[in-house]
Amino acid sequence: MSRSASLNAAQRAADLDALASGEVVDVLVIGGGVTGAGAALDAASRGLTVALVERHDLAFGTSRWSSKLVHGGLRYLAQGAVGIAMESARERGIMLARTAPHLVRPIPIVTPLLPEISRRDEQAMRVGLKLGDSLRRAAGTSVEVLPRSRKVGYAEAVKLGGAVRRDGLRGALVMWDGQLEDDARLVVALARTAASHGARIVTRAEVLEAGRSGARVRDTLTGAEHEIRARAVVNATGVWAGTLAEGLTLRPSRGSHLVLDNRRLGNLPGTINVPVPGERNRWVFAIGHPGGRAYVGLTDAPFEGLVPDVPEAPEEDVDFLLNTLSSALDVPLGRDDVLGTYAGLRPLVDTGAAEGGRTADISRRHVVMTGDDGVVTVTGGKLTTYRHMAEEAIDAAVAAGGLEGGQCRTQALPLIGAAPPLELARVDAPRRLVDRFGTEAPRVLAEAGGAPELLEPVDSRLRRDRRRAGLRAAPRGRARRGRRARPAHAHRPGAA
Ligand SMILES: Cc1cc2nc3c(=O)[nH]c(=O)nc-3n(C[C@H](O)[C@H](O)[C@H](O)COP(=O)(O)OP(=O)(O)OC[C@H]3O[C@@H](n4cnc5c(N)ncnc54)[C@H](O)[C@@H]3O)c2cc1C
Repeated sequence: MSRSASLNAAQRAADLDALASGEVVDVLVIGGGVTGAGAALDAASRGLTVALVERHDLAFGTSRWSSKLVHGGLRYLAQGAVGIAMESARERGIMLARTAPHLVRPIPIVTPLLPEISRRDEQAMRVGLKLGDSLRRAAGTSVEVLPRSRKVGYAEAVKLGGAVRRDGLRGALVMWDGQLEDDARLVVALARTAASHGARIVTRAEVLEAGRSGARVRDTLTGAEHEIRARAVVNATGVWAGTLAEGLTLRPSRGSHLVLDNRRLGNLPGTINVPVPGERNRWVFAIGHPGGRAYVGLTDAPFEGLVPDVPEAPEEDVDFLLNTLSSALDVPLGRDDVLGTYAGLRPLVDTGAAEGGRTADISRRHVVMTGDDGVVTVTGGKLTTYRHMAEEAIDAAVAAGGLEGGQCRTQALPLIGAAPPLELARVDAPRRLVDRFGTEAPRVLAEAGGAPELLEPVDSRLRRDRRRAGLRAAPRGRARRGRRARPAHAHRPGAA
């Protein structure tokens, strides 16, 4: 690493100045989501000169609205998409073991065996889980990192299932996947790691027009317009990619989540899957998250019209999620249990294959295409597969710009803050900070300069402020790191 990884106002101003005054970079990346930040890191770590421009802030788009899961791709296997399943399993293993072990942890995915799930369906699911195990093995992820799937009896199902109905519960199926501490933090870690390899990261810079030799960019802080010159341009603007790429049609799909107090779900240590009544192979899940929250998702509905900056979860999604999850609980959830909602738009690529069909049936495969204008567009895919998408995009940019870059190095390149689990366990800082900032956690503590109020979790402060302001009773209890089940041998920060 050659440069500071600090992204601050002075650095932004210096980077924008350099770019606006005629510096030519090898690669200009448009979009500061997981795909764009990943592409900037890929290019910079190959030794190319790089600039990334983002019209709002890092992770402003879909990348901050995810379910925060690093999927192994079992769902794609069930759809016969073996290539995507394998890609997901491989990328999951890379993040867990090498690039981001501080941000990604193993999480049990639990399907409670309630009477709604027939013995026949249970058998089919067990076959699926075995396939998931084969996928994990084929991807080179050991059982020390992610344990094997298994069926558990009533007692363990109760422990893992939180507030799940006891009546008729005959056990549970358990598999393991990856859980991301914070999706936006992953994007920031990628951008900062890219900056440490020399990339210029400029937020609040909107691309108005792009072509093979650069882009016209508006500084949204001042309104000034600049030409940024580049030998290759990568459009990584997610669900907005069609605005800069001719001939690309996206079919955005809205996914909504609810945010609950995890105590309402019996302090879920992992994820539970609940079948949607009356439908085959459709599930709602609830994910316990450290910090005492639980996320409930997920809808998949076509989104028509102009793509908004910040999508919202409509009432019908809230009802659907509450009702479906409630069908598996002793005490049904009500509107009062909802602390908040959020929604994101998946950048699904319309290949024509599922025309008129459900967005759930549209492939999650990503596309990398070089337009007639020479701009390389990368979109679709998943947060889990960002690294591989970035690699393919930069390969295409190298070809389009006739660049001389080295080989992709990101498979073995730890992100800022990453370290082997034993080292993370020794970091002298609260676990919740190590899970978010890894080896940089002590520096974050130092920034607080010993002021105790700055060291409190943000949400407990919010609760206190709300109480002082006499607002609606906030959820009780101190925000704290939830107790969670861990695989027996998992290499986890704090597990030692
Ligand atoms: C509800 C939901 C849940 C999901 N859950 C998961 C999950 O658990 N695991 C998983 O692997 N995947 C998940 N996904 C998929 C994943 O979140 C997305 O595939 C991924 O985040 C897309 O990232 P991106 O960088 O391509 O796009 P974005 O994150 O949207 O980034 C694009 C960026 O480009 C910027 N931009 C746009 N236009 C311009 C312009 N003209 N100039 C400059 N900047 C511009 C935007 O501001 C934005 O920041 C989920 C998706 C949704 C919707």
